[in-house]
Amino acid sequence: MCKISKKDIDLFYNMLDQDKHSLHFLWDCTAGTVTTAGSALFENVTGDPLDFLRESGLIDEQSMPQFNVFTARLEEGVISGINRSSLSVDILMKFTPGADYELCGFYAHLLRDESGKVLAVHGTIRPYSQKEVANKKIITTFSSDRAPQIYGQEVAEMMARHPDEEIAFIQFDVERFKLINENYGVETGDELLAFLTQTLGIICNEEQPYCRLTADVFMIVTTFDSDQHLLDFIHRLESLLSGFKGMEYRLIFGVAIAEDRTLHTRRHGDNATIARQSVKGSALNNIGFFNGRMRSELQKKQLIEENMQAALLDNQFVMFLQPKYSISTNRIIGAEALARWIHPEKGMISPAEFIPVFEENGFILKLDQIIWDSACRKLRDWIDRGIQPVPVSVNISREYIHTFDVVGYLLELVKKYDVPIKLLELEITETTDAQGVSDVVQKMKDAGFTMLMDDFGSGYSSLNMLKTTQFDVLKIDRGFLSKFMESGRGRKIISHTISMSRDIGLDIIAEGVETKEQAQFLSDCGCDSAQGFYYSKPVSQEEFDRLLLSANN
Ligand code: C2E
Ligand code: MG
Ligand code: MG
Repeated sequence: MCKISKKDIDLFYNMLDQDKHSLHFLWDCTAGTVTTAGSALFENVTGDPLDFLRESGLIDEQSMPQFNVFTARLEEGVISGINRSSLSVDILMKFTPGADYELCGFYAHLLRDESGKVLAVHGTIRPYSQKEVANKKIITTFSSDRAPQIYGQEVAEMMARHPDEEIAFIQFDVERFKLINENYGVETGDELLAFLTQTLGIICNEEQPYCRLTADVFMIVTTFDSDQHLLDFIHRLESLLSGFKGMEYRLIFGVAIAEDRTLHTRRHGDNATIARQSVKGSALNNIGFFNGRMRSELQKKQLIEENMQAALLDNQFVMFLQPKYSISTNRIIGAEALARWIHPEKGMISPAEFIPVFEENGFILKLDQIIWDSACRKLRDWIDRGIQPVPVSVNISREYIHTFDVVGYLLELVKKYDVPIKLLELEITETTDAQGVSDVVQKMKDAGFTMLMDDFGSGYSSLNMLKTTQFDVLKIDRGFLSKFMESGRGRKIISHTISMSRDIGLDIIAEGVETKEQAQFLSDCGCDSAQGFYYSKPVSQEEFDRLLLSANN
């Protein structure tokens, strides 16, 4: 386990010596200990210093919303290791016991190891001098909005620093802001705007320029890796900026992706305005996209979410089966259960479209339970009809494995349909959280299930997961097979992967086998099991029965 270095601790004590007017704490996140110094306030604090402050009653209520955003950001940094080393916020608090509220600066510095993991938080709280307070007042009245000219310059520089990354212009405003002024008073309206401006200062990092354009219209520019990443960022903005003083207001966002980098930044901003204005009046949606691709992605997602419950009740989710073959005998040796959504109007919807949405909104567990149930029912059906059954593998999503008792549920199912446990196999995808998954896989194995490691070779953690986790079967990923088959070097890697798996006592199957050459090559390397379009696509249960009877009799 990582520890804070002696150098950091020395630095901490050094600062204390130099600065007797501040309150300091050093919070060791790995050991969970706190060292404090300075003001008498912290004398008896042992647990989380942020919790202590939140509950101490020392912070003025006015400052709580900002303080909460600050701690949320800080804790997020502690947990996920965002790449930022310091955060600060101004709060009104009773710094000296018995004295009145003072304007204080709370500054937190994150100490990280080389990998970016946060080891400790060094927090400093210091009351501002009178002169500083006077200055602050001037700053908040005139320029805490970061004058649009400064922002324009910052955006241009930031874009130049990230020539190859995607950049989004996000604009938002408070829906019907006028009503807030009317209902709560102009002063509260102003407070809300100040809260939004200051909070943006806490949320946005050095590479995310922001500014207040006009009364209640704000602009933020950020880089992003994927559409999902960008949506997550917007949702975070929304949750941190909402609910000021328990008020109810809705933020409306407009997003423009800077595709044409030769355009003036103003044009991207204008596009974001158009996008924002396009959602005005929509009750369901509060994010508009200038870019057509993202707009249709979001609409598709909404359509899925609006229809999923009804589809469940209407039995629109059905299990298809894709046969697994023995390359040498051409017999069917098993099947994978795959979900299909048969929509009355749209026809068959591919899992690639709805599984990611379900994994995000939690509906995936319900879907998986339907498929697990169908798989057991199918096994029972074969046994009842005197057909020699083949094992059926079902997919287990990682989303719920730590929160839902999958093993207990599956054992009940196997009991309910009275099928041999060996006939129900479980597929889990490789993941970066090898250790966490490893324990779950072990439990499933101990219960008697056969465990398949799905999509081997598609990610970065395959070998790590092999090392820590006791799988029974390794499933070679379709992409790994097709890409590596292209070169002599790649073919060697596949061949050695196959012999390695046999060496450590694992069975192996290749998925996504599309050609005769691939099947022949796998067989030459010692892998006799294959699943893929060369043999058969996933088919309905009736069709599968026909294939099974003709191939195995
Ligand atoms: P997977 O578990 O790796 O399933 C194999 C996917 O590869 C299936 O896509 C299958 O149709 C496809 N495939 C098989 N052979 C070939 C081939 O030769 N060529 C090509 N191009 N594709 C082939 P599908 O059914 O679209 O499923 C996609 C993914 O969605 C699955 O990948 C799995 O991760 C997920 N999924 C599907 N059904 C379920 C389910 O019931 N529960 C959960 N949790 N995930 C599911
Ligand atoms: Mg699978
Ligand atoms: Mg797979």
